[in-house]
Amino acid sequence: MNRILVSFFSSLCISVHTLSNGFEFNQNKPYIEDIEGFGMDCDAAAMSSWQNYLKRHDSFFVDHFHGMQKSYLMCPHCGKQSIKFDVYSSLSLTLDNSQHHNTLFNSLDKFTQGEELDEANGWYCSKCQKHVCAIKKIQLWTTPDILTLHLKRFTFKPNVAKKNGLLRSKIQDVINFPIDRLDLHKYVFGPKDESAPPVYKVCSCLNPLLSFQRSRHH
Ligand SMILES: [Zn+2]
Repeated sequence: MNRILVSFFSSLCISVHTLSNGFEFNQNKPYIEDIEGFGMDCDAAAMSSWQNYLKRHDSFFVDHFHGMQKSYLMCPHCGKQSIKFDVYSSLSLTLDNSQHHNTLFNSLDKFTQGEELDEANGWYCSKCQKHVCAIKKIQLWTTPDILTLHLKRFTFKPNVAKKNGLLRSKIQDVINFPIDRLDLHKYVFGPKDESAPPVYKVCSCLNPLLSFQRSRHH
């Protein structure tokens, strides 16, 4: 049975990633280009992307904490489409400030709905030959044995009293999620191993208790 590690602190994700890097066995890391295209065999592309990732990052933590997501990108100017497979160590989920009854499923729905990239994270469209604010949609392809979820409780908006300043606020809402059986079947689009289905049980939860002023990272 898979287990879930639900994290309300991004530091846990960073710690896992740091530990993962620290325990990597393969120090001879080749440069490998991403596999990216459209209309390709997704199963084969996902498998090749995973194997390429292992050539640079093979470790115990990758085996148990990392999964793959399928990223679909489309240029808003010329319509060029592209698919690539990325490895993730945690899923950062946004919360809907307007909802009174937030659930983990609301956040997962939002995560997979798609978004327009901002200029700082533009995608290079080879047809337009420039970075564009592409439409990006993510599907989970595989999920790891131990899944780390990070709920982004902080929101930022411009501080009119301070040039280039930002005002932080924290979403304090209770987030509902099943403790014994978080079934992610509907979010996983890759091949599923029914001997280890994407069904999780909460094994750990972190919630920041420090105030804004004293907490530097959360
Ligand atoms: Zn384009």
